[in-house]
Amino acid sequence: MKFLCVLYILCGFASAAWALEREAFTIAKYDLEIRLEPQQQRLGARGKITLRNDSAQPQKVAALQISSSLNWRSIRADGKAVQYVSQPYVSDIDHTGALSEAIVTLPAEIKPKDSVELEIGYEGVIPLDATRLTQIGVPEEVAKHSSWDQIGPSFTAVRGAGYVAWYPITTESADFSEGNSLFEVVDRWKAREAGSELKVKFSYSEIPGDAFGMLLCGVETGYHGGMVGTNTETGPVENGVDCSWSPIGTVTPTFVKARYLSPKQPQVSLFSFPGHEAGAATYANAFDPAAKFVTGWFGKLNGRVEVADFADPKSVPFETGTLLMASMAAEDSKLAGINLVHELVHSALPSSRPWVYEGLAHFAEAMYRQQQGGRQAALDLLGLHRAAFIDSEKEVSAAPQKNAGEKSIGQPLAVTFDETYYRSKAAYVWWMLRDMIGDDALKQAIRKYRAEDDNIKDPKYVERLIETAAKRDLAWFFDDWVYRDRGLPDFHVQSVHPWKTETGVQIITVTLENLGNAGAEVPFTIKFEGGEITKRIKVRARGTATTRVEMPGTASEIVVNDGSVPESDLTNNSFKISAP
Ligand SMILES: [Zn+2]
Repeated sequence: MKFLCVLYILCGFASAAWALEREAFTIAKYDLEIRLEPQQQRLGARGKITLRNDSAQPQKVAALQISSSLNWRSIRADGKAVQYVSQPYVSDIDHTGALSEAIVTLPAEIKPKDSVELEIGYEGVIPLDATRLTQIGVPEEVAKHSSWDQIGPSFTAVRGAGYVAWYPITTESADFSEGNSLFEVVDRWKAREAGSELKVKFSYSEIPGDAFGMLLCGVETGYHGGMVGTNTETGPVENGVDCSWSPIGTVTPTFVKARYLSPKQPQVSLFSFPGHEAGAATYANAFDPAAKFVTGWFGKLNGRVEVADFADPKSVPFETGTLLMASMAAEDSKLAGINLVHELVHSALPSSRPWVYEGLAHFAEAMYRQQQGGRQAALDLLGLHRAAFIDSEKEVSAAPQKNAGEKSIGQPLAVTFDETYYRSKAAYVWWMLRDMIGDDALKQAIRKYRAEDDNIKDPKYVERLIETAAKRDLAWFFDDWVYRDRGLPDFHVQSVHPWKTETGVQIITVTLENLGNAGAEVPFTIKFEGGEITKRIKVRARGTATTRVEMPGTASEIVVNDGSVPESDLTNNSFKISAP
C-alpha cells in the first residue's frame, strides 16, 4: 500500500512537473532552531519559514532545497503534514554540487504576493566537501583551501547560500562550468532574499573538561548559557547563541565555532587559535589607528567587529557583514590594518545598498593605503580590482546602447548584486567622486547618509547628498556610472598644440577624446624637462574636451589617467610630443 502511495505521488508530480517554477517563491522569513553536534559533524534544524509567491501566477507546488548532505525530516502546514517528494537536485550552488530538494504540494494554491507558512525539520552532516570544485578540475589540495566549510570537532565554519545550503533556498540549478551561470543564480537568489529575515537559535553542549567554543555569526543578538572558559562541571553544559540577519541584505549568513582564545578588545573581537598569538597581536595593534581613520571619515562605530582565525592557515579569507574570517598565522600589519578598516566601515555605515555598503569599505581600504604609502600605493590597490569587471564591461561597451526604459545587458551599480560590481567597480566610483569633489565635501555627504532614507522611494538619494555637499551637478556622472551600466571610458590624446604668447609664455593646448560610453573627469600629466604638471578635465562619453595649460618648460609627453578612472584600454594613454 505504501509503495502504491509513493507511486501515486510520483505520478501526480509527473503531470505537474512542467509547471514547477523553482524561483516562484521567495523565503521571506526564517525562524529556525539549530542544534549543533560538532563531534558528529551534525546539525538538526526545525522551525518555521514563510514562503511568498513572487511570481505572476498562482502556485500550488514549492521546491525547497538544502545541502545534499542534509535530509528533510518533516514539512507541515497548519499543524498537518503536507505531501512532499524528496529528490537529489544537481546544482553547484552547494559545495557538494547537489541539493536535497523537497517538492511540496501546498495545502492550497497561493496567489501572487500571498504567503504561506511551513513548519520544517531537517538534519544531517556538513563535512568538508570540495566536490563542486574538484569535478571541474581544481586539484583537491587547492580546492579545500577555498571550500573550507564544515562542521567539525575542532573547527566549524559554514557559509550560507552560494557555499552551503544550511537553510532552505529556492533556486534553479546552477552550473560552475557554464560561464557565469552559478554567479547568476546566486546573485538572483541574493537579490530576492535581500529584504528577508533569518533568525536562528543555535544550541550545542560542551563536554566536561573542554574549553567552551563560542559561536560567532557576526549578528549575535543573545546568548543562552553564554559560558566562556572551560567546562569544569561533571556533565555536559548547554550553550547557545541567537543570530539575527534582519534583513539579510548582501550578507551571506555564516556561523563559526571553534576553541578560540578569548578576545580582550572591546570594539573588535579577535578570535585566534593557540599558537597564533603574534598574528592576533598584529591585529590588536592595528586597531586604534584603523578605528581613528574610519571614525574620521564615516562617523562613530555602531557595534563591534569580529575577526576569526582559520584552523588551516591557507584558507581563502572571507567576510560577511562585520565578521571577517582570515588566518592569524602570519604577522602582516599592513594587511591587518586594511582588513580592520574594511570591517570598521561596515560597523560605522550600515546600508542595504550593496554598492554603498561594500563599495565604501573597499574605497576606504584604498584611502587608508594612501595614508600609509601615498596615492600610487592606493591606485595599485584599486588596480587589483580592475581585472574583476573589465571583461564584462567590454561586453557592455560592445553591445548597442539602449534607450531609457529598455532592458540593458549591464549591471547598474545602484541595483546590482554582482560582487565584482558592488565591490570592485563601486570602489572606483567612490574614488572618482572623491577626486572630483574633495575630501571635505565627500565626508560631509557620507556623514549625512542614513540607511533608512536610501530606499526605492528615493532612488537618487546618494546623488542628492553628494551634490548638496559638493554644490555641483553630478547627474551625468551618476547616470553613466551608477544608474546605468554603460561600460567604461577609453581616453586618448587626440591632438596637442604647443605655442607661445606674444610675451613669450609657453602654452600647450590639449584635446582629449573619450571613445567609451561613460564619461569621467580624468587627470592627465604633462611632462617637461625638470618636472611635470597634472590637471583634471571632464570628458563626456563619445566626446572630446580641450584645455590650455601654461608650461614652465617644453612639453615632451602627455599621459592620460593615473589609474584612478577605470578604463577599457590603457595602451593608448601616452602621447609623445615631437620637437617642433
Ligand atoms: Zn565588506
